[in-house]
Amino acid sequence: MFNLILFGPPGSGKGTQSEKLIAKYGLKHLSTGDLLRSEIANQTPLGLEAKTLMDKGQLVPDAVVIGMIDAAMTNNPQARGFLFDGFPRTKAQSEALDELLHKKNASINVLLALDVTEEELIKRLLNRGLTSGRSDDTKEDVIRARLGEYRNKTANVADYYNKSGKTVMIKGEGSVDEIFDSLSAEIDKRM
Ligand code: ADP
Repeated sequence: MFNLILFGPPGSGKGTQSEKLIAKYGLKHLSTGDLLRSEIANQTPLGLEAKTLMDKGQLVPDAVVIGMIDAAMTNNPQARGFLFDGFPRTKAQSEALDELLHKKNASINVLLALDVTEEELIKRLLNRGLTSGRSDDTKEDVIRARLGEYRNKTANVADYYNKSGKTVMIKGEGSVDEIFDSLSAEIDKRM
């Protein structure tokens, strides 16, 4: 298996690049944000609980997202690898993911971290809010809360994987194709 974490703050381009990467490398895309929004659309109890937190820009509890990822991996036993997008977002989630992969005799091969300035992120998110229909993209205070959660709880996930030499920083500004080429080059070195 080849397992990749596409990492970076909200608005860094994970969703856009994920779509292109799964098409090129045949990985199964697991986005906790997408999984949560689908729970909300289906009005499940989990979705209703998550929505309150997401609308405030806060992380949903570790146990909730870990459970969703566990189920999604179990439902895709044939996958030749996973692209994790928006997960793991805390050290506890990272440890849980390593454990889930370990049970499959697999591990994370690389964490690719998209580097984008905060000013650019806010611009991109407000712009996305005009068309995405995502309520968490329209209010600047919610966007700032999400960036705060990223700094306080998520940024250290890159350090966690750097201990085993798996973290690679990628310039996240430039054209979509330039960034895609940088990401692809790092994957090609390791696949
Ligand atoms: P973005 O990275 O652009 O903020 P996502 O779609 O990845 O968007 O996530 C949207 C929201 O869903 C987050 O602000 C958070 O509330 C929740 N969420 C997504 N993934 C996780 C996760 N792994 N752990 C906790 N909360 C999460």
